[in-house]
Amino acid sequence: MRQVRTYKNKEQLWSLTSMSERIVLVAHTNPDGDAVGSLSAMYHFLKQTGKHAVMMVPNAFPGFLSCLDPADNPVRIYREGPQECDRILAGADLIICMDMSGPSRIDEMSDAVFKGSSAKRILIDHHLNPVADPFDIVISDTEVSSTCELLLSLILESEAIEGDINRLNLDCATSIAAGILTDTNNFANSIFPATLERASMLLKRGVDRDALYDSIFCSYSASRMKLMGHLLSEKMAIIQHGKVAFITLDNDDKDRYSYCTGDSEGFVNLPLKIRGVQMSALLTEDDGFVKVSLRSKGSLDVNLFARQYCNGGGHRNASGGRLYMDISETAAYFTASIEDYFKKA
Ligand code: 5GP
Ligand code: MN
Repeated sequence: MRQVRTYKNKEQLWSLTSMSERIVLVAHTNPDGDAVGSLSAMYHFLKQTGKHAVMMVPNAFPGFLSCLDPADNPVRIYREGPQECDRILAGADLIICMDMSGPSRIDEMSDAVFKGSSAKRILIDHHLNPVADPFDIVISDTEVSSTCELLLSLILESEAIEGDINRLNLDCATSIAAGILTDTNNFANSIFPATLERASMLLKRGVDRDALYDSIFCSYSASRMKLMGHLLSEKMAIIQHGKVAFITLDNDDKDRYSYCTGDSEGFVNLPLKIRGVQMSALLTEDDGFVKVSLRSKGSLDVNLFARQYCNGGGHRNASGGRLYMDISETAAYFTASIEDYFKKA
């Protein structure tokens, strides 16, 4: 049976944060809206309770998420100043990892977080198969839309809020809404009954959903839209009798369309709009590897596919991984892997 909840010392969450003085909040490589949203939501909540925290991610996040980055205390990018970040992590007394299933999701930052620090560690996450060992507290729930949704339920249980959403500061509420909005792809998937109840609470609290939607989903450059057109018309293949589609995005495409971090956000969802397509992949050339993004519909499990063929993982309908081969080899590898996967299924 699939594990839905993994708890270790959950009841100690808010007492541990209140006892800590040097708190660092960490989220995964290639941070998305849920990663940046959960960092900034936790930052604003802790600030409300009189605590300061430093936020840190391994690499830069897309420009459209900068609306979530607290102006008075921007998220630190490990790759842009590793020594300073190592120093902060070494001096921390509490590290809270969010929206990541374990150490491998923060790449080169992992040693500083898990070996270079004697801090207590907390995991708050919604991915399948969390790695619980390195954490003193684990709060993992896979039946929520996002880490932000899970964080909201925890915050509502805190003494500072006592279930009253109106006590929550608006910056925190807005960051939580952003994580829910992005991880559900604007309420298209990963919705559970409680997701809509919690989203409703956020609207009642005063979150400006229209402004948030505009900043997140309507702030693309013209070259990003042209890249999307190019990929759909020239770089998409449909295989497995119309059930699977994949797009390859190589460095030539990136150069031609002045690619910026985050420009390919949402591309992987597009082939799922084709009738009959149940699984979609985006294969993106990166530095020394090819990043794989996977999406599926219904019971088709891309987490399993990511784990077996792509050195990755994630959720049943949204996963990712990495292929350590040249981009020119990935179409053949992916096609063969799909054939194998469907044959065994
Ligand atoms: P995305 O396609 O948006 O990058 O990622 C989709 C989901 O897969 C996210 O929940 C993300 O955490 C997970 N994921 C993405 N890349 C990797 C990876 O390299 N390893 C693992 N274990 N999960 C990943
Ligand atoms: Mn997430």
